Amino acid sequence: MRVFKSTLARRPPPTNGLAIHLVCEFAKILLIRQSGKQTDAGRIDLVHSTDGEQQPLQVILAKPRGFCAGVVRAIEIVERALEREQKPVYVRHEIVHNRHVVEKLRRKGAIFVDELAEIPAGALTIFSAHGVAQSVEQDAVNRGLPVIDATCPLVTKVHVQGRKYAKSGRALVLIGHEGHAEVEGTMGQVNAPVHLVSTVEDVALVALPLDTPIAYVTQTTLSVDDTRDVIAALQARFSDVIGPDVAEICYATQNRQTAVRDLALVSDLVIVVGAANSSNSRRLQEIGLEMGVPSYLVDDGSGVDPAWLDGIAAVGITAGASAPDELVESVIDALRNLRQVRVSQLDGVDEHIEFSLPPQLRQVEPRIAANGNPA
Ligand code: SF4
Repeated sequence: MRVFKSTLARRPPPTNGLAIHLVCEFAKILLIRQSGKQTDAGRIDLVHSTDGEQQPLQVILAKPRGFCAGVVRAIEIVERALEREQKPVYVRHEIVHNRHVVEKLRRKGAIFVDELAEIPAGALTIFSAHGVAQSVEQDAVNRGLPVIDATCPLVTKVHVQGRKYAKSGRALVLIGHEGHAEVEGTMGQVNAPVHLVSTVEDVALVALPLDTPIAYVTQTTLSVDDTRDVIAALQARFSDVIGPDVAEICYATQNRQTAVRDLALVSDLVIVVGAANSSNSRRLQEIGLEMGVPSYLVDDGSGVDPAWLDGIAAVGITAGASAPDELVESVIDALRNLRQVRVSQLDGVDEHIEFSLPPQLRQVEPRIAANGNPA
């Protein structure tokens, strides 16, 4: 006889401003659970009702989830460029970190390359949402490539901050993950040494006198909590440290991380839809795990393992900032193939942020909207 644990017994009480809302969600789930039957071990079987019928699987969607304004803008730039050019356009690196998005754009005529050297002279070139180093911008000029820059404006803001701090004479620390495209771009946008740190432990390795004036900037998709810890370590080690408030770095990162925390409070299992190379998606999975909930990162519905649902009453689903909602739908469909499902969405922040397109593309109407649906 399997014993099913109550999610409610495992979760810490909510401590943020969503407490009232979460109490309501708890109450809803409690009602769902009241129809569960008692097992021989005296626990509540959350999957089967008193008459032995299997209960519908509660599928709870995080809000917000999926595309952020920077990703919508980047995809729309490629779509409008294809529409304007009526011939292939070249995109340096994945426009955003999602294979499905890249494949869709490839089918429409986008050609993705690793290096500018692969692009024929004169061909329209698009830089990805993650941003590029100044050396890449210069290389494009040298090769005579017309460029449209799809760098997210919030990443550009980090570049500007970094240059400003370096110009003011401060030593610059970048909090980010080595090898990530955004980190490479940011490091290459500052004409001064950049000290890269990823963890609290890395701070002890920064080879600067302790009275050096320091400024930090951060990768936009890090764990907000981890970043706060790294900043605290910098402030503890060095006497003069300045930098932006973590909450101001990227609204989408902050909102999705808050939402997955709330989701984990009411879920037995969290599924994050996103690519393995998507930094913000991986952070969402990590937060689910930190909350004590089994959490998995999947590309789409094909990644769902039926064994995950064993003894599970409520599955929470969220999606990284580069994952389209159709992939969330494919995960729900995969769950529906395994169990009867009941889908609901947690309350959360409404996002209304939009970034304007580059001037060259503002007059071009895309045939297909950036969310993948007909315009
Ligand atoms: S996650 Fe934030 S910084 Fe990254 S593309 Fe989206 S809005 Fe821009």
